[in-house]
Amino acid sequence: MNQQLPNSFRAGPDEEGRFGLFGGRFVAETLMPLILDLQEHWNAARKDPEFKAELDGLNRHYIGRPSPLYYAERLTEELGGAKIYFKRDELNHTGSHKINNCVGQILLARKMGKTRIIAETGAGQHGVATATVCARFGLPCVVYMGATDVERQAPNVFRMKLLGAEVIPVTAGHGTLKDAMNEALRDWVTNVDSTYYLIGTAAGPHPYPELVREFQSVIGKETREQMMAAEGRLPDMLVAAVGGGSNAIGLFHPFLDDKDVSIVGVEAGGKGLEGEEHCASLTAGAPGVLHGNRTYLLQNSDGQIKEGHSISAGLDYPGIGPEHSWLKDTRRVEYVPIMDQEALAAFQMLTRTEGIIPALEPAHALAEVIKRAPKMDRDQIIVMNLCGRGDKDVHTVAKHLGMEI
Ligand SMILES: *Cc1c(COP(=O)(O)O)cnc(C)c1O
Repeated sequence: MNQQLPNSFRAGPDEEGRFGLFGGRFVAETLMPLILDLQEHWNAARKDPEFKAELDGLNRHYIGRPSPLYYAERLTEELGGAKIYFKRDELNHTGSHKINNCVGQILLARKMGKTRIIAETGAGQHGVATATVCARFGLPCVVYMGATDVERQAPNVFRMKLLGAEVIPVTAGHGTLKDAMNEALRDWVTNVDSTYYLIGTAAGPHPYPELVREFQSVIGKETREQMMAAEGRLPDMLVAAVGGGSNAIGLFHPFLDDKDVSIVGVEAGGKGLEGEEHCASLTAGAPGVLHGNRTYLLQNSDGQIKEGHSISAGLDYPGIGPEHSWLKDTRRVEYVPIMDQEALAAFQMLTRTEGIIPALEPAHALAEVIKRAPKMDRDQIIVMNLCGRGDKDVHTVAKHLGMEI
């Protein structure tokens, strides 16, 4: 697909939320007033110094930002090429980047006078982060979660309940993330006045992809400053894992207009792209409409959405944030798949060489770094987003390694 190249890759989306041919707001008529109301408040909030001060305060004192930019010296030596830095977002409160977005959106919900928060969750990480900020602000929280996921992710379901959230299992479809998101959208239309829908990734109808990106861009902004302080220049390459695309766009966006910085997004290649068991919507999908926006999707020839597969629950969303679809087609960002087995090997390598147990999602990004770093010069620099810690994945890893906990 040919798209005209923009003057700036950072300027989008346009007023209808379009990134080139992607994005937009394909929603039922009943949802449109809510979307426009949200957009109005978001436009005001992003310019409001008081909102910014409140957000900065929570980022610092509640999440623990800025997260360190860490030089992985042993891993760099082991791979024998480019210098590898990690942006340590796994050290955030609740263990991943998800909280960056939740803190921003709950402040927005309060500005809008909303008294009830709903969210969707797949693996439960976004559900836990949402339940966390709802506890912090004393707001009731309802989390929609596919029934299959409720069974698979029992510890996160328990965490959400401890935090005071109500978890509603969704039995429609295959009972996974896509179905949970449909149900949350339905709730939103029914409870317009009281309710704020806190979406967990840079997808959904406009303005969600933009506002989630802005809240996550704290990752890339800090990285720029920290890299200038550490090396006096920008990195040569950025690498991040993409599920819905929020941690990746958060790192990438502040660098999109720096032509000398190459950027790589890593999708879940699962058990290989030949079969059905993967979640590489950009590499192996086709454009269509899901959850209010036009983007690359895993779908069959009738346009039915397929179930994705990945060893990491956080990467198996059959769509992708629309900005990534546009960055793919304009070729500003390169997207590649990494298989389950490669991610498992990377997970073990990082644990042993740096003493950091990563989540399986960033282990995908790391597997790509392991391929690329040795081919680069020693004076080149890669920054990888280490967007989550691995505690949640130790059972999965043990099973795949044939070990018992
Ligand atoms: C949820 C999650 C992801 C995938 O979501 P994105 O929106 O693509 O960032 C990746 N890594 C971790 C640790 C997650 O919890």
